[in-house]
Amino acid sequence: MTSSKFIPSTKPLPFELHPSSIQGMGAFAIRRIRKGTRIIEYLGERITQAEADVRYDDEAMERHHTFLFNLDKRTVLDAGTIHNEARYINHSCAPNCEALIDKGHIYIYAITSIEPGEELVYDYGYERTEDMGPEAEALYVCRCGAPNCRGTILAPEKKAPSRKKAASKSKAASKSKSRGKKDAGVKKAAGKKASSAGTRRSTKRAKSPGRKRAS
Ligand SMILES: [Zn+2]
Repeated sequence: MTSSKFIPSTKPLPFELHPSSIQGMGAFAIRRIRKGTRIIEYLGERITQAEADVRYDDEAMERHHTFLFNLDKRTVLDAGTIHNEARYINHSCAPNCEALIDKGHIYIYAITSIEPGEELVYDYGYERTEDMGPEAEALYVCRCGAPNCRGTILAPEKKAPSRKKAASKSKAASKSKSRGKKDAGVKKAAGKKASSAGTRRSTKRAKSPGRKRAS
């Protein structure tokens, strides 16, 4: 990830990047963003799950930090090599945005109205695998500071029926899947376009081991 290509958005964005108390740089609204607004596309290099496994070894990381996002069963977006401002949107257990897949693209939408100065955040909800224990939670530690912070960016443990099209943002996700026992937190997005802004999954993300696909 040392040589990553940044492709700035060609459109004016409703946010700016500043240091965040959550982690590193964060995205902060510079104007009011209405609920349901498609804010930005999450860009990344399209690679296969196998390639993602080769590139990243979860077990070698003290704290999980990659930029993979599952697009479908075979494809992962790696924002470690090609990315845009969307990569800087942090995780929070009390999100005001969500990531949805639409026709093979991942977009970040506002799920509440966001005021200027507020940090844009969404719930990464990394996919859990059955063997994940305390060590995995430590690897995926969350420091979002929300009152309801669950302490980890892994998806909540309860099972939720996986709704159509959830996408999973995977940070080195595929690993867990293909290897079975590794934690491969797959970040999930739900795919449904803006409409989901209204439907807002109360089910949180599905933790089905299978990544969801966009269509
Ligand atoms: Zn949290």
